[in-house]
Amino acid sequence: MPAILSSSGPEILAVQSTNSLPAAVDVAIIGGGIIGVSTAFWLASRNVSVALFEKGKIAGEQSSRNWGWCRLTGRDLRELPLMLRAHELWRGMNELVEGDTGYRNCGIVYASNTPEARERHLRWIAKAGSLGIESRMIEPDEVAAMTPGLTRPIAGALFTPADGRAEPQRATSLIAEAAIRKGAKIFQDCAVRAIDVAAGRVSGVATERGRVGAGAVIVAGGAWSRLLLQGVGVRLPQLKVLSSVYRTKPIDAGIEPCMSFSDFALRKRLDGGYTVASSAENVAEIVPDTLRFFREFLPAYLVERKGMTLRLGRAFIDEALRWRPGEPDRPSIYEAVRILDPKPDTATLARVKQAIGAAIPSFRDVPVAQSWAGMIDTTPDAIPVISSVESMPGLIVGAGFSGHGFGIGPAAGEMLADLAMGRKPASDPYPFRFSRFTDGERLDLQTWL
Ligand SMILES: Cc1cc2nc3c(=O)[nH]c(=O)nc-3n(C[C@H](O)[C@H](O)[C@H](O)COP(=O)(O)OP(=O)(O)OC[C@H]3O[C@@H](n4cnc5c(N)ncnc54)[C@H](O)[C@@H]3O)c2cc1C
Repeated sequence: MPAILSSSGPEILAVQSTNSLPAAVDVAIIGGGIIGVSTAFWLASRNVSVALFEKGKIAGEQSSRNWGWCRLTGRDLRELPLMLRAHELWRGMNELVEGDTGYRNCGIVYASNTPEARERHLRWIAKAGSLGIESRMIEPDEVAAMTPGLTRPIAGALFTPADGRAEPQRATSLIAEAAIRKGAKIFQDCAVRAIDVAAGRVSGVATERGRVGAGAVIVAGGAWSRLLLQGVGVRLPQLKVLSSVYRTKPIDAGIEPCMSFSDFALRKRLDGGYTVASSAENVAEIVPDTLRFFREFLPAYLVERKGMTLRLGRAFIDEALRWRPGEPDRPSIYEAVRILDPKPDTATLARVKQAIGAAIPSFRDVPVAQSWAGMIDTTPDAIPVISSVESMPGLIVGAGFSGHGFGIGPAAGEMLADLAMGRKPASDPYPFRFSRFTDGERLDLQTWL
């Protein structure tokens, strides 16, 4: 049996690290979430020498804490071609990584809670249909058949049969192990303090164990990406949003698809329990970055404010005093915070538990086995950056997945590998270009759900 890591976050399948640092590699990756490890997998599969540095543990942050939905449903239309590719990859993932990532093609259901939501979902179905996505509106009786015991009236639901679920506490680790088998070197407990630059281009990374030269550096640092990039004078507008989750003990609820009813959402787990959360409620701590990026994020905040609680607390002072870009020869914030492990918002989780218990009585008395939270990293238009940075040759960014990077991760990693190798990606990377924040494009936030 593989070892299971336990922290205050979810239990993650442990990955065996490499020990001795190479002097140089073709590509250095910063961050061992699903984006970084997928990129490492694709690069190593194509015989590119690659080293990945993770300050804590593989999947220690967002990539193990998420709901595990792999969805096309309701997605920003700009992401659909990449997500179609991700679905292709997920379908063969267990064979590709020689292990059970928990991937199951179970379908995803978003309840249309009101007639207006139904209209919005129908509009998305029409637009996605023109891109080849087979989603449809299902009527309340069909939703009821998928949700034994459902007591809540709804106006229908948006349903995508091709969607699926995977197990966040296993998938990223298994991809990492597959990358190692292909030749990738993966270092854990090894923070990158700074990106090295020589003669106007990146030349490697300065880690807490020493320097490694690299022709290209990929920043896949999740919520830390903007700070890493600030270290080389590159401005990425990125904020963090706290999202809380709980899991139940195994129960026989008989619900296979992932389902969202807005005030609660659920996904069946490989262990027979359910991961439960709210799709409507999140918390944003006010930190210095909130002020720094206020102008860019204001339109998104105005759209999302109903479900967003702004909180001013210790995080402001903490980040103001301690969250500084690292220097090669001094311990950095990345070592001080090995794993970003925020406390879940208990008030949100109490409301979620109440809502699911009222709507599906079989959940009413199911004990909470564990709860946790993750810091979602967001961009102003809620789509990621998967892009080279023109002002800094050799620098590539894969970050800002805005709460939906797990499902799309394997394909995003493939795209990053293509960019690093100068190959044409399977789908168009233009919507994800870094320069969109400065080239005058209006940053649209698409909200369909
Ligand atoms: C509660 C919650 C629910 C979600 N639900 C879904 C869902 O159902 N479906 C979906 O598709 N997405 C979901 N997401 C979003 C998804 O989890 C993320 O978009 C995705 O995991 C991002 O992966 P990543 O690799 O970019 O970041 P992360 O997984 O956060 O990984 C970044 C890694 O970089 C490391 N790092 C940072 N700085 C350094 C440094 N200086 N040196 C070395 N390492 C460093 C960090 O330690 C971290 O491990 C959810 C997120 C949360 C929090």
